Amino acid sequence: MKVAVLGLGIMGAGMARQLIQKGFDVVVWNRDRAKAEPFGNLGARVATSPADAAAGADLVFAMLADDDASRSVWLAPGGALASMRSDAIAIESGTLTLDWVRELAAAAQARGVGFLDAPVTGSKAQAESGSLTFLVGGPAELLERARPALAAMSTHIAHLGPAGSGATMKLINNFLCGVQVASLAEAIGMAERSGLDVRQAAAVLGAGSPGSPLVRNIGQRMVDRAYEPNFFVPLMAKDLAYARRAFAAAGIELRSADVAREPFLAAERAGFGTRDIASIIELLRR
Ligand code: NAP
Repeated sequence: MKVAVLGLGIMGAGMARQLIQKGFDVVVWNRDRAKAEPFGNLGARVATSPADAAAGADLVFAMLADDDASRSVWLAPGGALASMRSDAIAIESGTLTLDWVRELAAAAQARGVGFLDAPVTGSKAQAESGSLTFLVGGPAELLERARPALAAMSTHIAHLGPAGSGATMKLINNFLCGVQVASLAEAIGMAERSGLDVRQAAAVLGAGSPGSPLVRNIGQRMVDRAYEPNFFVPLMAKDLAYARRAFAAAGIELRSADVAREPFLAAERAGFGTRDIASIIELLRR
């Protein structure tokens, strides 16, 4: 099975490496070609454009930062969609707005190619180890055709319904993640200012009712001041903004997302834009 991967950031790089290791015929493309070159040494072909990568592929995955990046990679001149075979499947794995995912699904349909939205949960470690969860929207028949490649990168594949369902679930999921991280920073900040042993405080939170995997994982990184990026600060601000729009369209005013988004925007302004989301705690240490 020939698989194209467009976008080799934190997530796309790990996903492409898993596909290569598991024997897929992989072609990669990245805007900054320097990130793509090492994949040539691993056995992938390094394409010169999204169109070049997509031509002849059975499956074309995109794992890009945001709507604008996705739009340009699929639809701009030299974009992937126009060069795809009619029996191929376009798979969008970024965390994007529902409006754009629906528009992209329609563009794929108009072009006569299959489309799945398949965003992921899990972060850098899960992408690197092939243990992501895919949240899939689209026809079951397309999912079955794509399943071997999805399975190579994941331990769970949740089929949520028609096109757009995966994107919807992902925004609901990341809304809760963003709110938790913003609240966690305040909780850890309070423990520190109160003179509590912050490691003990984080352990209590992690072992108690608030102790989601996210609270345990990000809490540890806040305590350790370990901000090597797993998930860049601006991407969480983006996810909360996208979630807000999706919820508003369903008649739900996402006030908690507005509040939660503030520290991510402030952290970006304070120079933490290329650091991990755990770094928002630093705003409370100044
Ligand atoms: P990342 O490391 O910042 O990578 C972003 C990718 O998008 C890079 O390949 C970048 O290319 C590309 N890109 C950005 N703007 C572009 C444009 N205008 N045209 C073409 N390419 C462009 O981000 P990531 O962490 O891999 O995340 C990718 C997506 O997955 C995002 O939607 C994110 O929200 C989502 N996600 C992330 C995580 C996580 O934990 N990191 C988990 C689940 C989902 P360059 O290298 O050339 O800049």
